[in-house]
Amino acid sequence: MISFKLKKFKIPEEKNEQFCKELTKRNLSTGHIVLSFVTVFELINLVFVCITSVDKVYRVFYIVLYSTLFLASVGTLFLIIRFKKSINKSYKTASYFVYLYLIFLMLWSVIKTFVDFTYRGYIINFFVTLIGCSCLILLKPKISAIFLSSYYTISMVSLLLDDRKLLDVYFLMNMAFITIIAMIVSLIRYFDLVKEYKFQLRIIKQNRDLKYMNKMLNKLNLELKRVSETDRLSELYNRWYLDTKLNEVWENCLKEAKTLTVLMIDIDDFKQINDKYGHFTGDECIRKVAKILLKYTTPLAAFCFRFGGEEFLILMPGCQLEEAYKISEMIRRDINSLNIKRDMKISISGGICSVTPNSKMNPEEIVHRADKALYNAKAKGKNMIWVEEIK
Ligand code: GH3
Ligand code: MG
Ligand code: MG
Repeated sequence: MISFKLKKFKIPEEKNEQFCKELTKRNLSTGHIVLSFVTVFELINLVFVCITSVDKVYRVFYIVLYSTLFLASVGTLFLIIRFKKSINKSYKTASYFVYLYLIFLMLWSVIKTFVDFTYRGYIINFFVTLIGCSCLILLKPKISAIFLSSYYTISMVSLLLDDRKLLDVYFLMNMAFITIIAMIVSLIRYFDLVKEYKFQLRIIKQNRDLKYMNKMLNKLNLELKRVSETDRLSELYNRWYLDTKLNEVWENCLKEAKTLTVLMIDIDDFKQINDKYGHFTGDECIRKVAKILLKYTTPLAAFCFRFGGEEFLILMPGCQLEEAYKISEMIRRDINSLNIKRDMKISISGGICSVTPNSKMNPEEIVHRADKALYNAKAKGKNMIWVEEIK
């Protein structure tokens, strides 16, 4: 149970360096603000001790003490600003520097407390340093324990050296109690930071997972779209997708006043091919025809569909009738010369219809016209392209 709870506050090994960087960054930021105040405060103290009536000997002590803290704080402020700029590179040096400043502050405070105690009889400086260090500076538990207990011990020993022997066991116990409270505060602040840091790590990981899942979903969606729009045998667009695409292409041509040409193709006597050579050869014919259609229509940015069994439809936006007819003839001739099986003759019939869309027409009409043209090509003897123009 306890080990489970401790685990909750443990930083993973691989994140330890990052966490120490974060800890040092925060200490430098706090140090920047606090030391700005300390510098001004020590300056005011210096002026105050010079203009008020203080015992001559103590005045020298105070002037030395305030000036030392003032100069040390100015120097530290300067270094903090430099460390903050290059924290990623010099976070280790910066963290040692924080400890060094704390040791200096501890020794300074011990002397100041002793001087205050002997001159005025109070130890307010002991409390200020104790509370300041535990509340404002983030320290790892071991370092905090060593630092605060040493501070307590050295301060109390120095006060016991006072000739008047004013301290008794109750006083020492009370001070120890306050030091323990300061340790607990320091510990709580440190573990709060650990908790916050671990929460941040979780959020970063969840974000990364979400991004990955999103990427995968997008990929799957694209694949799903491709599969739902594609005919498996010919790998052309399927009939279902024609309904969507026809409206889209029609609207686009209407908007840009572009010609839309439709070519409908049907393989001649395909039933006989199936009967004579088998369905697998029939399938191969469909694949080969589809390949030829793509070869001629891809450069035109046209869209090829498998309309039915051995029927194909091509939408050619922006293509004039003459050009479409020329291409259809090339397709027809290429298919004629296909050599799928020995002695196999394969041909197609095609119907072309070309129109500049207007708002009175609907897109299905052009498909019906192309179908009609195909019917004419079949009726006139097959293996030919028939043209139907809408004025
Ligand atoms: P026409 O010249 O008048 O078009 O005659 P046809 O024999 O091509 O037309 P018909 O409609 O009589 O026959 C079409 C045949 O196409 C019937 C069907 O078995 C075949 N077919 C349809 N889809 C496929 C397919 O995916 N693979 C194969 N191998 N055959 C198919
Ligand atoms: Mg047919
Ligand atoms: Mg046919």
